[in-house]
Amino acid sequence: MARSGSTGERTAALRALAARPTIPSGRLAQRLLGARQGLDRRGLSALLIGIGADLLYLTGYDAILTERLTMLVLPAVGPASLVVPRLEASPAHDSPAARAGLLEVAAWDETDDPIQVVAGLLAGRASSENAIRLGISDRLWAIHLLRLQSALPRASFESATSVLRHLRIVKDPEEVQLLRLAARAADRVLDRIAHGPLIGRTEADVSHEILEALVAEGHDVGDFAIVGSGPNSASPHHAAGDRVIAAGEPIVLDIGGLLGGYGSDVTRTIWLTGGDPKAGPDEEFLRIYELVRDAQSEATGSARPGTPAERIDSVARGIIGSGGHAAQFIHRTGHGIGLEGHEDPYLVEGNSEPVRAGMTFSIEPGVYLEGRYGVRIEDIVLCTEAGPVSLNDAPRDLIVVDGL
Ligand code: ZN
Ligand code: ZN
Ligand code: ZN
Repeated sequence: MARSGSTGERTAALRALAARPTIPSGRLAQRLLGARQGLDRRGLSALLIGIGADLLYLTGYDAILTERLTMLVLPAVGPASLVVPRLEASPAHDSPAARAGLLEVAAWDETDDPIQVVAGLLAGRASSENAIRLGISDRLWAIHLLRLQSALPRASFESATSVLRHLRIVKDPEEVQLLRLAARAADRVLDRIAHGPLIGRTEADVSHEILEALVAEGHDVGDFAIVGSGPNSASPHHAAGDRVIAAGEPIVLDIGGLLGGYGSDVTRTIWLTGGDPKAGPDEEFLRIYELVRDAQSEATGSARPGTPAERIDSVARGIIGSGGHAAQFIHRTGHGIGLEGHEDPYLVEGNSEPVRAGMTFSIEPGVYLEGRYGVRIEDIVLCTEAGPVSLNDAPRDLIVVDGL
C-alpha cells in the first residue's frame, strides 16, 4: 500500500480542505422552492421540520438538539418561519437561510408554548371543512409530534420525507465535493492506522486514535470507528472493546466522520503478521477476501444511471454466493450517504428504484465466518452519467502489514 504521507500530497490535501465549499444561499433558495413544489404536488399545506438533517438541508441551520422546540414551518405559500427558543435567536438569525432573507425567525420566550407559536403560524391555512395535511420530519421527537397533534386536532400528519427525499437523494456539486473531501480524509486515516503499531493494543485504543486522526485529517468531528480484530472481525457492527490485537489475524476497520456536515464511511480489512512470515493469511481467508473484493468491484461497476438499486445488491450477492458464502453475507450491499450516514437510496433487495447521476452511496459487501474472522470492503460511490466514480481511493487489495 502506498503511503499518502509525502509532504507534497499532504500540502495538496490541506489546500483542498481549506478551499472546501459551503452551500451557497442560492442553493438553499432552490431547495426551499423544490420543497414548496413538492408540497403543492402532494396537496400538503406545510412542512414542519425539526432539528436534524432535513433542517440543515433546507436552511443551513445546525441547531443544538435539546428538548426545546426548534422548527422550520414551511407553508406551500407565504413566508417560511424558523421557530426557535429565544436563547438561540442569535445563531438562528445567523443561519445561512436567515441571512439570505429566505425565512423569518420567530423566537419564543422561555414561558411561551412553542407549539402554540407553530399553530399560530399555520392558522388560516385550513378551511372550516377541510382538515390540513402536514408533512413532519422523521427525526422530530415523538413528544413534539404528540403535542402538535393535540394542539391541531383537525390536522393530519405524514412524513415530510415523501417531499424531501427526491431533493436530498441527488447531491449538488458542493455536496459531492464535501463528500469527496471527507472520503479522502478518511482514506488518509486508514493509511496512517494500517501502517502504525497495532499488535498489543486494545481495539478501543485504536478506535480512539482513529477518531482523533479523523479530525487531524480534516473532519469536523469523528463519528464512528469500528475496530474488529480476530474473531470480532466477523461481527459487522462490532463495538471496539478491550480485546488485545494479536499477530496472525485480521482486523476490519470501518470508520467515518463529518466534514462540512457530510459523512465519510470507509472500510478496509488488514492482516497482521507481527513480522513472522508464517503468520500470514491462510488460504480460506485469501479466498473470502478475493470474493469480497470481486463483489465490491463488480457491484461498483454496475452502479450506472438506470440500474435498479436492488440490482447492485444482487451483483455483489451473486459473486459471493458463487463462492459458497451467500449465508455469510448478512447485510445489504449499501446505503446512501450525505448529511446522514445512512439515508436513501438503500442498495437492498426490494428497492427497485433506479440509481441516478448525483446519487452517492456505499458499496460494502462482506463475508463473516462466525468465531473465525470476517472481511468487508467499503467505498462511497458517486453515480455519474459517465458511470460510477469511487470517492475513496484507498487501495482495495488485502493490506498485509507487520502491525509492529
Ligand atoms: Zn454498517
Ligand atoms: Zn462503514
Ligand atoms: Zn457504510
